[in-house]
Amino acid sequence: AAARALFAEADNQVRFADVGGLEDVKKQIARRIITPFRKPSLFAKYRRKAGGGVLLFGPPGCGKTLLARATAGECEARFVNVPVIDVVDKYIGEAERKLAAIFADARRDTPTVLFFDELEALAGTRSGNANQSHVSLVSTFLAEMDGFAHNNEGVLILAATNMPWGVDSAFRRPGRFDRVQFVPPPDRVARAEILKLQLEGRPLAGDVDVDAIAAKTTGFSGADIENLVNTAVDLAIEEALASGAESPVGQRHLAEALGEVKPTTLEWLTTAR
Ligand code: ATP
Repeated sequence: AAARALFAEADNQVRFADVGGLEDVKKQIARRIITPFRKPSLFAKYRRKAGGGVLLFGPPGCGKTLLARATAGECEARFVNVPVIDVVDKYIGEAERKLAAIFADARRDTPTVLFFDELEALAGTRSGNANQSHVSLVSTFLAEMDGFAHNNEGVLILAATNMPWGVDSAFRRPGRFDRVQFVPPPDRVARAEILKLQLEGRPLAGDVDVDAIAAKTTGFSGADIENLVNTAVDLAIEEALASGAESPVGQRHLAEALGEVKPTTLEWLTTAR
């Protein structure tokens, strides 16, 4: 119950439709993750193994967490979002107990998608955590995962990392995170979609040209686009306050915001590894 209060998200309504772009990734997840999860007996009949975990990797802010949440939504499963650092940061013994409680809670209340964010904090070969208590925490984690190797029991295990090269190969053995999925930065079409999702429901001027903004945001992550839209909205609100009149978000607000918000994925792509 403690783990549930800590990490389970109540009433998750996020679906694939809320994730802009990433069509190929969604297709892969649907085929390799959602179908086996929803139809375990069909997979057993074809002697196709279900179970094991899926590691999402890619630059920050490009939708790994959002995709994991949407996967839970598509599975109509509970979403449990575990920031790995919150577990690793505990005293000796307490971390193992917490981890065991998280897995026990997942088994008890199925279907559940168990999502471990920033897995490298636990699985990092260069995390500088190679002390005895860390080694013991890693064994606890791998033993729990191995418990799901041949039967997913209504629990789907996902994880995310920005540093896949830093994830110890022990974590990628069969039955563990043996499926690895790249979540790329959004291309122009995807950026237009994310812009539309982020602008939805806001007062908009007629001149807003989503495709033009999408063309000018090479290297922007989804999170950068969210930041861009929020910045433009703030500018519109400022004007509304100053003039006392309505001030819908227009192309000029977005253009001005473009001067303030910079892309963050290019750095990841060039410094990665
Ligand atoms: P990190 O590696 O930093 O944890 P992440 O890849 O998990 O990042 P998310 O947390 O999923 O990124 O994305 C951050 C926010 O950016 C989301 O809450 C969402 O608002 C927006 N976002 C990112 N990608 C998309 C997308 N493809 N469609 C819609 N919104 C997106």
